[in-house]
Amino acid sequence: MKVRYSYLQQQFANPEPIFEGIRELLKTGEFTLGPQVAEFEGKFAKLIGTKYAIGVASGTDALKLPLKALGVGHGDEVITAANTFIATAGAINEIGATCKFVDATPYYVMDAELLEKAVTKKTKAIMPVHFTGEPVEMDQVMYVSKKYGLPVVEDACQSILCNYKGTNCGTFGAAGGFSLHPLKNLNVWSDGGVIVTNDPEMDKKLRLLRNHGLKNRDEISTFGYNSRLDSIQAIVGNWLIPQTVDITNKRRANAQFYDDAFRKMDGFVQLAPRREHVKQCFHLYMFEVDPKHRDPLLKFLVDAGVEAKVHYPIPLYQQEGLAHLGYKAGDFPVTDKQAKRIVSLPVDQHLSREEQTYCITMVQEYFAGKKH
Ligand SMILES: *Cc1c(COP(=O)(O)O)cnc(C)c1O
Repeated sequence: MKVRYSYLQQQFANPEPIFEGIRELLKTGEFTLGPQVAEFEGKFAKLIGTKYAIGVASGTDALKLPLKALGVGHGDEVITAANTFIATAGAINEIGATCKFVDATPYYVMDAELLEKAVTKKTKAIMPVHFTGEPVEMDQVMYVSKKYGLPVVEDACQSILCNYKGTNCGTFGAAGGFSLHPLKNLNVWSDGGVIVTNDPEMDKKLRLLRNHGLKNRDEISTFGYNSRLDSIQAIVGNWLIPQTVDITNKRRANAQFYDDAFRKMDGFVQLAPRREHVKQCFHLYMFEVDPKHRDPLLKFLVDAGVEAKVHYPIPLYQQEGLAHLGYKAGDFPVTDKQAKRIVSLPVDQHLSREEQTYCITMVQEYFAGKKH
């Protein structure tokens, strides 16, 4: 059996409604900031429960623009997670600021208890990452935010419809950034991103920043960027957005199915603690094994047709491209430990129970006869 990681062919197997939207677009030629973008923004704000949503060119820009709007720049530090995708750090770097990393919890997100220790005179913002679709402990983040007057921009790129104590991820701070990249839970046909906020001033600034700072055709109020969500991508988003709740529920049910099976493999497979007060969206489904088993298990799974992955084998702070930040091996022990132990399995909404059962059986088969 082959269990693929990417489900995009299934997701877009019946593209006729999208093609119809694109045919309509061709009649008007409103390829940039057409009415489809405003429609998507309205639907997205409603879905997440914010006053405003602003479509931008990528998830990376959905993090960069709010930082820029807050006046973060050269010489400033932004606190974020040591275990995240490069784009979080990339967004901070793009505006000239420096990443200040914080280690992870056993459930793979920034440890909010370590946040306060990372605050310095140079800190200008906090960027928690709801990595894998698992909410950060936002009570503690907002406590530190208030205490030091530091704005929060959430990296919600992997966490659409995740919530923490009943509040959706992305809505806690000054703004939250989401990615519409083909690999994310709400995905379009190329790059795209969206920012949510409840602050009318932030909304206004972000609309300027994404479109060259143009107030109107002839007047420029600030330097900005070329970072608009394409009308074509908004058409895809408008088609898919009504399915987002179902997508989330399906992923959660799939994760529960894995959890139930892997709990019986205690000693071989370790699951992250599942907190009662959060609702995850399982952008990724990760579990841990002993480091001596990780690479052999990965190879066994891949050879058996299961496209298992590791997110990520080399922690960001140990990457060559970030060496100038001055971190050294061992600075983030939890992140390091997890990087050697984690495995990700497909968990998407198009995965069948048969495929999941096969994944589980292959993990069991690998460990059959092995000692702890
Ligand atoms: C995908 C992702 C981003 C960036 O999104 P793009 O749309 O690829 O620019 C940022 N942060 C995290 C955690 C992501 O997973």
